[in-house]
Amino acid sequence: MATIGFIGLGNMGGPMAANLVKAGHTVYGLDLSDAARAAFADAGGNPVEGIAEAVSQSDVVISMLPAGAHVRKVYTGEDGILENARPGTLLIDSSTIDVESARAVASAAEAADMVMVDAPVSGGVGGATAGTLTFMVGGTDAGFAAARPYLEVMGKTIVHAGGAGNGQAAKICNNMILGISMIAVSEAFVLAERLGLDHQKLFDISSTASGQCWSLTTYCPVPGPVPTSPANRDYQPGFAAAMMLKDLKLAQEAASTSGASTPLGAEAAALYNLFCNSGEAGTDFSGIVKFLRGKASA
Ligand code: NAD
Repeated sequence: MATIGFIGLGNMGGPMAANLVKAGHTVYGLDLSDAARAAFADAGGNPVEGIAEAVSQSDVVISMLPAGAHVRKVYTGEDGILENARPGTLLIDSSTIDVESARAVASAAEAADMVMVDAPVSGGVGGATAGTLTFMVGGTDAGFAAARPYLEVMGKTIVHAGGAGNGQAAKICNNMILGISMIAVSEAFVLAERLGLDHQKLFDISSTASGQCWSLTTYCPVPGPVPTSPANRDYQPGFAAAMMLKDLKLAQEAASTSGASTPLGAEAAALYNLFCNSGEAGTDFSGIVKFLRGKASA
């Protein structure tokens, strides 16, 4: 069993770290939030208050932070992970961040004699809790092989996407599909309401027809058809609209620097921007259906 430093015990990191504890690893967990550290202690983990305490004795460091700036600061900032971890430590960043930051931090880690992989996830809080996440991993073959046993504790599907940063590339492509498909499914429910077609009927038909997709069958944006979807708890996240907007912006930045044409991705980013600016940044991203319904009745 390994000693693991886990940085970022939020909606996703909390349950991921708890699964590592359950598997028998010794886990030191760090978060800025007292509540997150207390919840981690309740799950059997060892909460700590500084990076040195979390990583200096660890064989493996895993992070689950909001964005690229947090990851750069926590790894390469003053008194950060690279200054405090031992050479040879395996570093796994599972946050969703920009490809450029992922590659910059990985090369700083290499210069400090540490192996780093980017390993962002798909599967949401439900997948984090159940240990069924999908991991998209960027890094060397050796880094992937070293990370795999730990990722298998937290996930079900582990895919090596290529060199450093390629896990993040896969993640932003996937989430661009997700943002666009959630808007598509939401628009269909709003149209169905206008046409007098019952939510459940549309669900029963489209979930077994060519409109079938994850946004419909696992994360349905209207209450009823999928009891576990956030629509049934007044759109409490889950996956906050602000996080979806962040990922759609990352995709647009990447499209612009690489010259890819992504017009629906651009429209999805614009709609989520309007939704977030209407005071809904903390609402689950499937709540976009309320916004589209509002536009429909305007
Ligand atoms: P979150 O805001 O719930 O958790 C992030 C945690 O990091 C917070 O608890 C915060 O206090 C902590 N943190 C921030 N800066 C820190 C620092 N310097 N030191 C220690 N802790 C610090 O976010 P989340 O929903 O858990 O998402 C985390 C990442 O996972 C994001 O990049 C997100 O895009 C990605 N993601 C989220 C989901 C989801 O469904 N929520 C799904 C897939 C991927």
